[in-house]
Amino acid sequence: MQRGCHARKRILITGGAGFIGSHLCERLLGEGHDILCADNFYTGTRDNILHLLDHPHFELLRHDVTFPLFVEVDEIYNLACPASPIHYQNDPVQTTKTSVHGAINMLGLAKRLRAKILQASTSEVYGDPEMHPQQEPYWGHVNPIGPRACYDEGKRCAETLFFDYYRQHKLRIKVARIFNTYGPRMHPDDGRVVSNFIMQALQGQPITLYGDGLQTRSFCYIDDQVDALIRLMNSPDQFTGPVNLGNPTEFTILELAQHVLRLVGSDAELVFKPLPQDDPRQRCPDITLAKAALDWQPTVTLDAGLRQTIAYFRSQLTAA
Ligand code: NAD
Ligand code: UDP
Ligand code: UDP
Repeated sequence: MQRGCHARKRILITGGAGFIGSHLCERLLGEGHDILCADNFYTGTRDNILHLLDHPHFELLRHDVTFPLFVEVDEIYNLACPASPIHYQNDPVQTTKTSVHGAINMLGLAKRLRAKILQASTSEVYGDPEMHPQQEPYWGHVNPIGPRACYDEGKRCAETLFFDYYRQHKLRIKVARIFNTYGPRMHPDDGRVVSNFIMQALQGQPITLYGDGLQTRSFCYIDDQVDALIRLMNSPDQFTGPVNLGNPTEFTILELAQHVLRLVGSDAELVFKPLPQDDPRQRCPDITLAKAALDWQPTVTLDAGLRQTIAYFRSQLTAA
């Protein structure tokens, strides 16, 4: 068995059958830890972790985090939550319950075990930001009653709970504000921009740009994101975050479309569709804190990451 320099830990990953979670399971198994993956398969799939099921140190539990969970672990990565606007708006009440009840249950579990717990929070806590690039002290600009609120406010409340358990119960917490992350095992139909554009380009369909395509995002490749999450979990106890984890290179959505078309070798046309309500105009992380506290910064360029992601979606289409 491959072992890292640290002792084997028992690690719970909620949402472990999802896009980010499955990569995290794989990486931590590779470091020699025991992994308990808990997922209700709302947006994740068994296929994402099929290659891990026979591993002697991997265990899969079908579980919904809105219900209590009694297991014995040393660390918890709380990733369970639908993440794409289409998925989280499909059943908005359930989305808020997953973030809030899920956080309470996982914090209760961590409290009983005195386990360290990391929350997958999001750049969405900044809403449609008036500060650019976004820094952690910024309180955000979120519409509390709009269609994105179930996710944004659910995640904000989860952050509140994490910091109240930290202050009230002296829990060891870590809060990661994850910015747009992409790579293999993204759900092809989840409506996120990277998966949409690649699937459209590969299938010769028009590329759907919402609004004028001049809104910006910054795209972090999955390997860089997983590296950051593990560094955050392993950081000294006094470092709680919140910390921005993302790639600070900013692109317009139109530029992303042009990159994808070039790499796929497609001349599909661009079509413009209405901009969804409350769609943030610009988003880019200031990662000064992550650099200083975690000695981390992304290393994978958009072109290199897109090539890997395109190869994955191409193989999925061929297998279908
Ligand atoms: P994903 O949808 O692929 O993964 C989420 C996983 O959580 C899925 O496997 C899903 O089945 C599971 N899940 C949902 N509700 C659950 C419940 N009630 N109980 C148990 N499991 C449940 O999305 P992802 O992109 O891998 O996101 C993982 C986490 O990272 C989420 O918390 C998301 O909010 C956060 N995040 C992701 C991004 C990104 O760009 N991918 C950005 C910011 C934050
Ligand atoms: N909880 C859990 N697993 C545990 C311990 C607690 O799922 O091992 C849940 C429990 O159902 C409770 C929640 O976590 O609703 C919060 O627990 P806490 O001890 O903080 O609060 P209390 O039980 O006092 O409401
Ligand atoms: N978008 C787009 N075409 C698509 C899907 C998304 O132009 O087919 C835009 C969307 O309006 C947003 C950006 O791309 O401005 C990122 O969308 P995504 O859903 O990936 O994530 P968000 O950052 O909005 O949560």
